[in-house]
Amino acid sequence: MNLKTEVLIIGGGATGAGIARDLSLRGIPCLLVEKGDFLSGASGRNHGLFHSGGRYVVADPEAARECIAENRILRKIASRCVEETDGLFISLPEDGLDFRDRFVRACEEAAIPARLLSQDEALSLEPGLNPDLKSAVAVPDGSIDPFELVLENAGDAEAHGATFLLHTEVTSLLLDGDRVKAVVAKDLLRGEEYRIEASYLVNATGAWADRFLRLAGLHIAMALSKGSMLVTNQRVSHRVINRCRPPSDGDIIVPNHTVSILGTTSIRLEEIEHLEITPPEVSLLIREASRMVPAIETTRFIRAYAGVRPLFLSGEEGGDRAISRGFVLIDHEKRDGIRNLITVTGGKLVTYRLMAEKASDLVCQKMGINHPSVTHTKPLPGAGQRAGLKERLKTLGQGEILCDCELVRREEAEEVFREGKLKNPLDILHRTRLAKGTCQGAFCVYRLLGLLNESGKIRGDSNTILKGFLEERWKGIRPVLWGTSVREEELIESIYKGIFNL
Ligand SMILES: Cc1cc2nc3c(=O)[nH]c(=O)nc-3n(C[C@H](O)[C@H](O)[C@H](O)COP(=O)(O)OP(=O)(O)OC[C@H]3O[C@@H](n4cnc5c(N)ncnc54)[C@H](O)[C@@H]3O)c2cc1C
Repeated sequence: MNLKTEVLIIGGGATGAGIARDLSLRGIPCLLVEKGDFLSGASGRNHGLFHSGGRYVVADPEAARECIAENRILRKIASRCVEETDGLFISLPEDGLDFRDRFVRACEEAAIPARLLSQDEALSLEPGLNPDLKSAVAVPDGSIDPFELVLENAGDAEAHGATFLLHTEVTSLLLDGDRVKAVVAKDLLRGEEYRIEASYLVNATGAWADRFLRLAGLHIAMALSKGSMLVTNQRVSHRVINRCRPPSDGDIIVPNHTVSILGTTSIRLEEIEHLEITPPEVSLLIREASRMVPAIETTRFIRAYAGVRPLFLSGEEGGDRAISRGFVLIDHEKRDGIRNLITVTGGKLVTYRLMAEKASDLVCQKMGINHPSVTHTKPLPGAGQRAGLKERLKTLGQGEILCDCELVRREEAEEVFREGKLKNPLDILHRTRLAKGTCQGAFCVYRLLGLLNESGKIRGDSNTILKGFLEERWKGIRPVLWGTSVREEELIESIYKGIFNL
């Protein structure tokens, strides 16, 4: 099939969805192509830390300034996606106080509000903290829901004319002199092939940016750094807890809806797919995080997952932790003589909007038009409404519940299916809180499949879909399987073997 668009965006993470929204609000037609569902890359595999900038303020003040500026904007325009928990950078006896003093000074210089707390003050705010802590600094960190954020951006982009091709991978670029004339993309679920002509292309493929550029014979230097994270079965703190020392392994705990996320490691990789979380990583994360909150040592974990950071190499870095978390915007006209291609990569989830604005500005400059971005002032459609369990509790008793952990109602799932936009029925797991709670889908995904069967939405064998889901679920659960979790998994195994004959 042949398609034509003004701007083709490759990548459906936060950056790609943000660009689709930014351009369509400026009235510029665009099409986004994503090889999985939205959030298949790092955008769906991070901590969800709503950075104040504190984490980078000492080593990378420019990235820190970007974070605090975007933190302020997103509180207004994306309030539904953000939980304003605040954060503490705590100093333990082995950390000394030199770094803390540098940290406070650097926050002042970067205009990040920072308040020094005594040991008693910190413990009264967070009684679960290590009682040996020397002091803490409070900063405006928080937690952000990447799923809400990306889907809200995509929804608003669509409402303003953007279109999407999901589960569709760009497999080749057709060059004509100094331009990309067209791309070939393949629908990975249905096998259909598209030839897409676009006046301009934006490479928003995150960690895949170099791999994508190689399709055009181009190359950028990137380090691929895997970070693994563990999910506890409840919140272990109200605030984000950071260790007040240079960023290292296992030094962040982020509250997220009903759970907490511990992270992270930093391991150089050659490939982006098939990320494995190893037992030494799990042990390291638990050991380090329990120095900050001792109860973590005996807490139950419900899942482990990993993502790959797209880090752009300027050539002067030391280790991966020293590579800037700022973003890069590359005009391939200036760099490689390809007039209609742009790459935007690196950065943070928190800076997605700024990355999208700058990439869209460059597209407009190339088009010779002057439509300024409005995303820094125009709220996302859901802004002002709160998402979360408290809101869900208000709807209890209003119909059947599919997911008991996260209180997702049958009606909510039916509404997503009524929209008719899902190519793969299990993509509903990215559109709702289904299967994100403590049982990780063990008791709701078969109900979901029942619903799909009833409504005739499933083509083929639903047991095969169930098996596929269980295989994916197992990858996340296996690294954290010990103690009572083993017993629960045995129960789940017997249910699936006994009832579904799997
Ligand atoms: C372990 C870890 C922890 C992090 N923690 C935080 C945090 O707490 N806070 C924060 O602000 N940031 C955090 N980040 C950074 C943040 O997640 C990323 O910077 C951000 O999500 C990048 O978004 P993106 O859209 O640029 O890339 P991605 O989300 O990776 O999107 C790129 C997309 O391109 C698609 N794609 C690739 N090739 C093709 C192709 N050929 N055709 C079609 N589609 C293609 C991929 O499937 C992918 O979905 C973390 C990152 C990691 C890895």
